[in-house]
Amino acid sequence: MSGSHTGAEQRVVVVGAGIAGLAAAHRLLGRGARVTVLEASERVGGKLLPGEIAGARVDLGAESMLARRPEAVALAREVGLTDRLRPPATATASLWTRDALRPMPKGHVMGVPGTAAALAGVLSDEGLARIGQDAELPRTEVGDDVAVGAYVAARLGREVVDRLVEPLLGGVYAGDAYRISMRSAVPQLFQAARTHTSLTEGVREIQARAATAQQTGPVFMGIEGGVGTLPLAVAESVRARGGEIRTGTPVTELRREPAGGWRVVTGERELRADAVVVAVPAPAAARLLRAEAPGAAAELAGIEYASMALITLAYRRAETDLPAGSGFLVPPVDGRTIKASTFASHKWGWIDEENPDLTVLRTSVGRHGETEILGRDDAGLVEVSRHDLKAATGLDATPVATRVTRWQDGLPQYPVGHHARVSRVREHLAALPGLAVCGAAYDGVGIPACIASAYDAADQIHGEVPHDVRDVTATR
Ligand SMILES: Cc1cc2nc3c(=O)[nH]c(=O)nc-3n(C[C@H](O)[C@H](O)[C@H](O)COP(=O)(O)OP(=O)(O)OC[C@H]3O[C@@H](n4cnc5c(N)ncnc54)[C@H](O)[C@@H]3O)c2cc1C
Repeated sequence: MSGSHTGAEQRVVVVGAGIAGLAAAHRLLGRGARVTVLEASERVGGKLLPGEIAGARVDLGAESMLARRPEAVALAREVGLTDRLRPPATATASLWTRDALRPMPKGHVMGVPGTAAALAGVLSDEGLARIGQDAELPRTEVGDDVAVGAYVAARLGREVVDRLVEPLLGGVYAGDAYRISMRSAVPQLFQAARTHTSLTEGVREIQARAATAQQTGPVFMGIEGGVGTLPLAVAESVRARGGEIRTGTPVTELRREPAGGWRVVTGERELRADAVVVAVPAPAAARLLRAEAPGAAAELAGIEYASMALITLAYRRAETDLPAGSGFLVPPVDGRTIKASTFASHKWGWIDEENPDLTVLRTSVGRHGETEILGRDDAGLVEVSRHDLKAATGLDATPVATRVTRWQDGLPQYPVGHHARVSRVREHLAALPGLAVCGAAYDGVGIPACIASAYDAADQIHGEVPHDVRDVTATR
C-alpha cells in the first residue's frame, strides 16, 4: 500500500471490519478506489457473528435486519444472498408483564399507540384511561431534543413507557427510555411531537401515511445461516473486487501527512493512504483521532456503551412445549432478570427445518448501567435464564446444550443531545480532508443505519479527492 501507485485510483484504508467498515469498503471499490480494510480481531463481522449450538446454525449476535429501510437487504442482494433472504416465520410476539405472557399489541410506533384501545390487555385500566388525557393536555414542548420516556409519560402516562416503550427501546438500545433521545432514537415520534399537540394524533398520522405508502412485505428480514453470514459475504465480495482485508491488525494511530493524505500505524507497520474511513466503536475512534482531531476525540470519548449477554439454549424438541410466536420482551418494571427471549426455532423457518429434533431459543440480559448481572459466570446466566423461562412459559426441560455470548460494550447509547454531539464530531472532522467516520455510534445502531452511515462516509471521502490531485500523486 505504501509507495507510488498508478492511475487515478484513490487509496483508502478502512479501519474496522464490522458491517459498517465492510459496507464502506464495498462501496469504495465500486467507485474504483483501492481499498485495504484493517481489522483488530481475528475475524470480520463485529457484532454480527454466526455460530452453532448442538449442531444447529444460529446467530450469536445480531439476528434480524429491518427491511423497511433498503440498505441491509439491498447489500445482501448485491453480495449474492438473494436466495437466502428469509422473512420471520411468525410476526406475533408477546410481552411478559403483570405475571403473564400477553400478545404484543399491534398498531403503535415504538410502543406509542394511536388509540388507547391498541394497548388493551397490556396496560391496567388506569393506565389505559390515562392515555385519553393526551387529547386534552396543553402542548408539551420538546425543544431541540427530549428523552423518549419523559415526553411519552407526560402525554400518555408512565405505564405506556414502563410496559411498552421501555422494553421495545431496550430491545434495540439496551438503554433506559428516560435517558434515550427521542430525536435520535425515534425521529418519527420527534417529528410528530413537533408538529402535533396530541401525540396519539401524531401517531395516527404516521400510521395513515404508512398505509398510503402501502408499505408491504415483512418489516424484518433474516438470512438462512444467520445474518452473521452477511459480513462474510460482503468480505468475500470486497476481496473479489480487489480489496484487501487484514485481520489481527489493530490500528494504533492515525497521522496526517505533511503533503496530504494519511499515515496509518498498525503495530510495527505503517500504511499511506489518500483517505481513511474510521468504522470502529466510539472509544476506539476517540483513541485514533486524539492526535489529529482532539475535539472530535473528546466528544467520541463521551459516548457511553451498554454491555449485554446472549444465552442460547438448545432443547430436545420432544421435551419442549413453547407458546406460539417469536418470543417475548420483558419490561424492566416487572423485576425479572432476563429482558427478552427469542424463540429462534419459531422465528426462523430455516432453523426449524434444519433441526427438526431441536428447539433453539435465546435470552438476553444486561441493560445500560446494569453491571451486577453480567458479573455472573456462564453457568449463572444459564441458570437465571432457565428460571425466568420456566416462570414465563412453563419450560422446565434440561437443555442439551447452552452457549453464552458476552457483548462487552455492545451497544452505544443515544441519550438526549446525541444528535448535537454527532454534529459537533462532524464539524471537528470537516477540517480534516480525507477522513470520515461511520458505524453504530452516529446515526443509528441497526444494521441498515450502520450501512447507510458507511455509504455516506464512503461518498464523502470519495467526492473529496479531486481527480487532478489524485493524478498528481499518481505520477509522483
Ligand atoms: C448482542 C447484539 C444484538 C444486536 N442485534 C441486532 C439486530 O438483531 N438487528 C440489528 O439491526 N442490529 C442489532 N444490533 C446492533 C448492530 O449489530 C450493531 O450496531 C452493528 O453491527 C455495529 O456495526 P459496526 O460496523 O458499526 O461496529 P462493530 O460491529 O462494532 O465493528 C467494529 C469493528 O472494528 C474493530 N476495531 C475496533 N478497534 C479497532 C482498531 N483500533 N483497529 C482495527 N479494528 C478495530 C472491531 O474489532 C470490530 O470488528 C445488535 C447488537 C448487539 C451487540
